[in-house]
Amino acid sequence: MRITSVELRRVRLAFLAPIRTAAGTSAVRDLLLVKVETITGEGWGECAALSEPTYTAEYVEGAAAVLRSHLVPRLLAAGGEVAGAGAVAPALAAVRGHHMAKAALEMAVLDVELRAAGVSLAERLGGTRSTVEAGVALGIAPSVGALVDAVGTAVDEGYRRVKLKIEPGWDVEPVAAVRARFGDGLVLQVDANGAYRVADAAHLALLDPFGLAMIEQPLPPDDLAGSAELARRIATPICLDESITSAEVAAGVLAMGAAAVVNVKPGRVGGYLEAARVHDVCLAAGAPVWCGGMFETGLARAANLALAALPGFTLPGDLSPPARYLAADLVAPLLANNGRLQVPSRPGIGADLLPDALEEYTTATELLVPPP
Ligand code: MG
Repeated sequence: MRITSVELRRVRLAFLAPIRTAAGTSAVRDLLLVKVETITGEGWGECAALSEPTYTAEYVEGAAAVLRSHLVPRLLAAGGEVAGAGAVAPALAAVRGHHMAKAALEMAVLDVELRAAGVSLAERLGGTRSTVEAGVALGIAPSVGALVDAVGTAVDEGYRRVKLKIEPGWDVEPVAAVRARFGDGLVLQVDANGAYRVADAAHLALLDPFGLAMIEQPLPPDDLAGSAELARRIATPICLDESITSAEVAAGVLAMGAAAVVNVKPGRVGGYLEAARVHDVCLAAGAPVWCGGMFETGLARAANLALAALPGFTLPGDLSPPARYLAADLVAPLLANNGRLQVPSRPGIGADLLPDALEEYTTATELLVPPP
């Protein structure tokens, strides 16, 4: 394909309610979208990076800067000629890190390519199911009572898996309250976003009696040895999220016993193609894998549904409709029925942006073109 331009577009969407995790509180989702235009059509990518570099080192301003100065110029170096989505990661490989920025660019190229070929993302990645089960993720609540109410709403909507964000000072008590109120039938798991240290092992073992499906990222992303040690000292299975940056890292983490479960986020590993490779590694190792969320719009969440259609995604992902957390979306609403969502089957990454919504929520655009 020949890319004629790449547009970087900033969009600002309000959260329904401020989101609080161990890393801080956000009231708005400041997003970066990437549009790739070719002579035959256009494709869109959504960057997972958040406003602040607190989930991983990437953040939205940084993603825009690295795309503008380093990634887009590399991709367009041959006058915009690109062999296809599979050629994007190799073209950008000299730039270290910046997986979310790379993933957004690859996603846009993938969208153009799939639309031109009349193929859906699920088909391209090897999806085997037409619906997927979603769980909900709940931030740190103002009180245990408010958390129990929020879980009750999710359960009433038909969700059977709930994930609670935890941090030191907000862990055993909320978990005990939710378990006591909803019983053992609720699949319950927690996410610490790296807020503990291996020295907290005895404290984290206090969660063992609650039969949690997993504890996600208890230790900082780089502490893989600590995670392997913690896995020996607590009964709750460890899932790694922030630590998993590629299929190679996933293979190493599973081999060293630092995790029993893997959370895959396409942005964090550099794109949907690498995310599918992480899935393959986990499937081969017999480790359950599930798709995480980054408070995406429906654009990326539709694509995540396609990823979660792969056979190794045996656990519900953070795939609930964006209407649960965003006050407005950029695509037609994704709908859940008793906690299940349809895997998109249309050509492309899975959703069309609504022009009016895109216009309304855009705060800035910037056009990059190939060198003459
Ligand atoms: Mg997580």
